[in-house]
Amino acid sequence: MGKQEDFVLRALEERDVRFVRLWFTDVLGFLKSVAVAPAELEAAFAEGIGFDGSAIEGFARVYESDMLAKPDPSTFQILPWRETVSGPATARMFCDIVMPDGSPSYADPRFVLKRTLSKAAEKGFTFYTHPEIEFYLFKDVPQKGKSPLPVDRSGYFDHTAQSMGSDFRREAITMLEQMGISVEFSHHEGGPGQQEIDLRYADALSTADNIMTFRTVIREVALSQGIWASFMPKPYTEHPGSGMHTHVSLFEGDANAFYEPGAEYGLSKTARQFIAGVLLHAPEISVVTNQWVNSYKRLITGSEAPTHVSWGHNNRSAMVRVPMYKPLKGQSTRVEVRTIDAACNPYLAFAAVLAAGMKGIEDGYDLPREAEDDVWSLTDRERRALGLDALPTSLAEAISLAESSELLADTLGEHVFDFFLRNKRAEWQEYRGVVSPFERDRMLPIL
Ligand code: GLN
Ligand code: MG
Ligand code: MG
Ligand code: MG
Repeated sequence: MGKQEDFVLRALEERDVRFVRLWFTDVLGFLKSVAVAPAELEAAFAEGIGFDGSAIEGFARVYESDMLAKPDPSTFQILPWRETVSGPATARMFCDIVMPDGSPSYADPRFVLKRTLSKAAEKGFTFYTHPEIEFYLFKDVPQKGKSPLPVDRSGYFDHTAQSMGSDFRREAITMLEQMGISVEFSHHEGGPGQQEIDLRYADALSTADNIMTFRTVIREVALSQGIWASFMPKPYTEHPGSGMHTHVSLFEGDANAFYEPGAEYGLSKTARQFIAGVLLHAPEISVVTNQWVNSYKRLITGSEAPTHVSWGHNNRSAMVRVPMYKPLKGQSTRVEVRTIDAACNPYLAFAAVLAAGMKGIEDGYDLPREAEDDVWSLTDRERRALGLDALPTSLAEAISLAESSELLADTLGEHVFDFFLRNKRAEWQEYRGVVSPFERDRMLPIL
């Protein structure tokens, strides 16, 4: 047993932990949890805890359904919302999913990311990410057929007296910090009831774990305050959607590989090639960065979400933005990928973005010209002349681009790729048959 495992076993006793929740994520990004008694943990570290993988979305075909969840001791945390002043505590650890023979499960999104990270590591790179997570707070549990009521009527950076949002953010951030997740910024976002919380940058595996924890914490805190939190990409037609802009960078050892003193915007050749890769492959990976029917309602003109493949340094319509707040500050050189939405599977989304960027580096892609104009204000013709490709406008389009993507198939691996696309096709089929209020309202009066 390693040092970290020993640490966990000791912590269980010292903190009087009665339940340990083993967390993992299904292919669509939903958190799964199985609680075990502390006495089981030694065995769990050694072999894993068995479960029926066929019952988890995308995990296994029925004939190979036995799987094991193996806890990662470095992710051990006491759950603050289950903590009582004197009574026993509940803890959690993220798990890797393994097959009965001990090999990693190809269906485990955490493994998909780990495999992509090790490919980058073979080239000497560590991938860092820093997500800005947006979400809405509503007054009530969602009710079928009803438009949800936001908790407030404020807008971007508003500071309102007795605001629900800032009390909420304070409690949520305190809880996140208790779980070892550092928060850099938080503020009210553009829509009524919409919030943003930005996590501190960390290696992409920790960040992806942190995002899963974040979503749980946000939901728990909301429920404890009698409100409802949602990461749905576009809950309202008339208000902005919830993105998860992600700042990314590559490090070589302690040095930021995106930084080159004196270069334009301080961006090294590695950074430029990485951006070029992310741009070129954005449409085919969009089924992963934007995985729901509803995701494509966010990616429309005029709501500060990207619609076209473009980059820029001071242009919020750009899909990849080079932030200039701390211009040319070496170690913090990074680029902001603005496509990703708040309802993605973070493991798969980070793996896809990293793979796209690495492809740009490996094949020495040229970075196209920066988009200087507001991309939304151009006509289609002007955009074509500037080589600005459109991002997919629907899940159907995203699926068909993904189907012929070698990059995505390689990154996700055969099993996840097949399951994921099958699932998405089914979602689209179901959606496209539904007659909407839009159609009835427009057509019944005139046809
Ligand atoms: N909500 C916008 C989006 O969907 C982003 C707004 C912002 O952070 N500037 O991406
Ligand atoms: Mg922000
Ligand atoms: Mg924002
Ligand atoms: Mg941003």
